[in-house]
Amino acid sequence: MNYEIIDAHAHIFPEKIAENATENTGKFYNLHMDSIGVSEKLIEGGNVIGVSRYLVCSTATVPHQTDSINRFIAEECRKYPCFFGFGTTHPLSENIEADIEQIKSLGLHGVKLHPDFQLFEADSPEAFRIYEIMESKEIPLLIHCGDPRYNYSAPAKIRRICENFPRLQIQAAHIGGYCRWDEAEELLTGFGNVCVDISSSLAFMDRSDAVRRIKKFGVEKCFFGCDFPMWNHKEELERFLNLGLSEEENKLILAENFKNFYKISKNT
Ligand SMILES: [Zn+2]
Repeated sequence: MNYEIIDAHAHIFPEKIAENATENTGKFYNLHMDSIGVSEKLIEGGNVIGVSRYLVCSTATVPHQTDSINRFIAEECRKYPCFFGFGTTHPLSENIEADIEQIKSLGLHGVKLHPDFQLFEADSPEAFRIYEIMESKEIPLLIHCGDPRYNYSAPAKIRRICENFPRLQIQAAHIGGYCRWDEAEELLTGFGNVCVDISSSLAFMDRSDAVRRIKKFGVEKCFFGCDFPMWNHKEELERFLNLGLSEEENKLILAENFKNFYKISKNT
């Protein structure tokens, strides 16, 4: 079966900082990084399995990086039409509204936040201000979720976003809670506005847990992703196909759900 494949979660960095940024991410998670986070390498890896589109993002660890990151992502999207770019902002940014406006005017499609890297509580009043603006401007949110070592993006905090912003489109990364999958499954399922990507997850759970979690969130609410540069595209696809879901379910998770959620038509 030749599936259309969209990679719903990839990080890219400007060439001169890519090596460092990749190394730091590897250290932070104590995981081996498959590649180096530059666009060329992303496409090289994705081509092996025939990825047709990539959601690309990068987060600002300090507020003043926001502007240059958003411009960088937009520039890469111009160079590579297969990129679907997300910008970023920061709860301590001087003007969140202006950041969101910039993201819109650069033609980016959403905002990526990573509470654990950006050191903010996902349900703090400052963060709620971001979600409020995003919801009113209909900008989707991709948010990193979970890490047993911290509480910034704990599933219970992500749940408060889901409850308080029912019209905000939320892509909860890593099946809603990296290494906190039981909590995620309990707290984040059943929200109409929430989808999950399955990146950085399948290597850590057995088949039956993965299938149960995917079904609990809803097969029509899960996106395939590789968390580039962390995982190898070919291996992640193998892990996914080994779950033994039906062809129809594979089709949904590999591409269709993403296109429906982000309203991507053939010409987007
Ligand atoms: Zn990420």
